[in-house]
Amino acid sequence: MSIMYQSTRSNSEKVTASQAILKGLADDGGLFVPDSIPAFDVPLDRLPALTYQETAYEVMKLFFDDFTEDELKNCIRGAYDDKFDTDEIAPLVKKDGVFYLELFHGKTIAFKDMALSILPHLMTTSAKKNGVTNEIVILTATSGDTGKAALAGFADVPGTSIIVFYPKDGVSPIQEKQMVTQKGANTNVVGIVGNFDDAQTGVKKMFGSRELSARMNEKGYQFSSANSINIGRLVPQIVYYVWSYGQLQKQGEISAGDTINIVVPTGNFGNILAAYYAKNMGIPIEKLYCASNENKVLFDFFETGKYDRRREFILTSSPSMDILISSNLERLIYRIAGDDAGQTEALMKALTDQGEYEITAEMRDGLTCFTGGFATEEETAHMIRQVYEKAGYVIDPHTAVAAHVCYEKAKDQGAPVVIASTASPYKFTRSVMNAVDQEKYESMGDFELVDELNQLSGVKVPPAIEEIRTAPVLHHTVCDKSEMQAAVEKILGL
Ligand SMILES: *Cc1c(COP(=O)(O)O)cnc(C)c1O
Repeated sequence: MSIMYQSTRSNSEKVTASQAILKGLADDGGLFVPDSIPAFDVPLDRLPALTYQETAYEVMKLFFDDFTEDELKNCIRGAYDDKFDTDEIAPLVKKDGVFYLELFHGKTIAFKDMALSILPHLMTTSAKKNGVTNEIVILTATSGDTGKAALAGFADVPGTSIIVFYPKDGVSPIQEKQMVTQKGANTNVVGIVGNFDDAQTGVKKMFGSRELSARMNEKGYQFSSANSINIGRLVPQIVYYVWSYGQLQKQGEISAGDTINIVVPTGNFGNILAAYYAKNMGIPIEKLYCASNENKVLFDFFETGKYDRRREFILTSSPSMDILISSNLERLIYRIAGDDAGQTEALMKALTDQGEYEITAEMRDGLTCFTGGFATEEETAHMIRQVYEKAGYVIDPHTAVAAHVCYEKAKDQGAPVVIASTASPYKFTRSVMNAVDQEKYESMGDFELVDELNQLSGVKVPPAIEEIRTAPVLHHTVCDKSEMQAAVEKILGL
């Protein structure tokens, strides 16, 4: 029986996996969900013998069942190759009795590489399967991280091009340098005079313009989106949780069938939702700990059943988790509502109109495997220092938020705990080094800190950082927020 995808907000539109990947979002604004979550069919004791790529195939073939074996294996081969600095792709390392699943060995040294290195391949294959001959133009607004990971993923992928808009004065100097030095003939980076919301609004407007879409079609182009609600990003994230279960066996820490717990530093709820899907596929995961920073809207939700975005937005040292609307939560809401699209739609409408919603007692029963937790800025810095002092291991602020929740709630509960380690400390050198020793490092420059971190941790400076020290700036375009469409037209020659 094949899996079809439908919107979380209505039952009317049913599409195949490849169509869902191409579309990104359903027509009614809902998220595509599989009509059932397939059971994992490889015996658990066989997992330790599989490579990362083999594990990826076993997971993805169940969800993307309209891809042929060859198609899927080609996508996997093209994605998880020597772009990653380790053959294991996602190493599992034990420090002070806790397992860190390192998801930052890809091109941009953060976990978004895990999905964005395969999405371009899934997308071009989906286009071919559905008779789409247009070139796929990925249009993205970024506040920093996603833009770079998407650029790196789509660079020089035949049949695609990518245009990234970022707020000229709204990203860190390192983030900007990472983007404007991006290689690849099909990559375009445009700084805008405006903030992230302006960039986001401009992009949404272009996506919604029929007139633009018609003119693009004439020239052989069509837009698609690489954002985190695409099912082509979610499914590849299930893989590393299944993989970690095999690695725990391989390291002699568990036997097949033993339960494990997982802690995920959470923003948009995509990463932890993938762990939830892994659990639903039959991987023996008991508890899922959802770790937030001071923007703890999800913690409050798990405590009270009430989601309330009406609160102050706080800038923290874990910026990729500074989020008040966690888009992927909608897929969990849909599931705990018993796959009820009408109820999901009503709750999402309440969130838009009133800024809050409350789930029913019955729905809350579906959340018993989740526990929320959060770390303050001080607790996050303290955790970085503590893990370094105890284990000589340096973690980034996002991972530290999860580590705090782990030490507070999950560690010493019996079952082994896996922490999703989402970024290399080299990506957030200043916060990390200040956490270790504020006085000593405060006055140093960014690249000086890179060398200090290298000395402290003994971990090689990743190429992603080395490169931007010397790489030439290749993208110079800056425009006003009102000129975004004109910039796109110029790039595509419309
Ligand atoms: C995006 C990101 C997160 C949050 O992941 P979600 O899937 O949005 O919950 C956490 N840490 C880092 C480093 C990230 O880039």
